[in-house]
Amino acid sequence: MIKENSPVILSVRNLTANVDGTPILKGINLEIKAGEIHAIMGRNGSGKSTFSKVLAGHPDYEVTGGEIIYQGENILELEPEERALKGIFLAFQYPLEIPGVSNLDFLRVAYNSRRKHSGLEELDAFDFEDLVEEKLDVVQMKASFLNRSVNEGFSGGEKKRNEILQMALLEPTLGILDETDSGLDIDALKIVANGVNQLATEENAMVMITHYQRLLNYIEPDYVHVMRDGTIATSGGKELALELENRGYEFLDEESPETAEVSA
Ligand code: ADP
Ligand code: MG
Repeated sequence: MIKENSPVILSVRNLTANVDGTPILKGINLEIKAGEIHAIMGRNGSGKSTFSKVLAGHPDYEVTGGEIIYQGENILELEPEERALKGIFLAFQYPLEIPGVSNLDFLRVAYNSRRKHSGLEELDAFDFEDLVEEKLDVVQMKASFLNRSVNEGFSGGEKKRNEILQMALLEPTLGILDETDSGLDIDALKIVANGVNQLATEENAMVMITHYQRLLNYIEPDYVHVMRDGTIATSGGKELALELENRGYEFLDEESPETAEVSA
């Protein structure tokens, strides 16, 4: 739902970033308000994952210019952990496996650090288990997954559902999902989409990064942005995703640079 008067959650201005000295992001402008769902699409290699990692503060990416203002604060100097504690959540395109750490313990530590940061009391193991069991429903996950090592031996779909479970517990202000739909069969896709739809509120914002239009059959974005060569080449409403589906990404190349450079 687009609301003119909603608070701005994220404002990205002329953001540029390098990886190993190579410019990858070349001037991104984006504004996201509370209550909005944004989709970021684009060909492989256009910089989508780089953008999400730069937002989360990944140390491999060097910001060379511009600003990231999150809830009124420039977060460029903040460590990834500090950004997470402030409510920025990134679901990875390739979720990490953490052998030897139980999913339940991992979730509890993450959840309690966010509680502590917000000045709330930490939950003990018993109360936390009750909470997490409630949240399992959001992603239709069996409780047995809690006792396994984080993501170890999980199928692609199970890993993605586990990411949504983390998000359900952490209740981020800004949820960024990088290709959470890739590699999912249609049932898993629906479960993930349903989870995101349940978690999207008027107070938070979601950024769905996706290469394909099909996720957007289940999650209706307010805005669609298309990245090309490290910038947002064009932005529009949800109909832009359908246009991409029908015409492919080639149509971006046909447009003159003037018409293509619509910044959000
Ligand atoms: P997308 O997610 O849109 O497919 P990426 O952000 O993953 O694109 O990649 C954008 C470009 O940055 C690609 O050309 C990729 O090869 C390059 N890139 C990303 N990460 C690295 C890295 N760690 N080292 C070198 N190049 C990288
Ligand atoms: Mg990617």
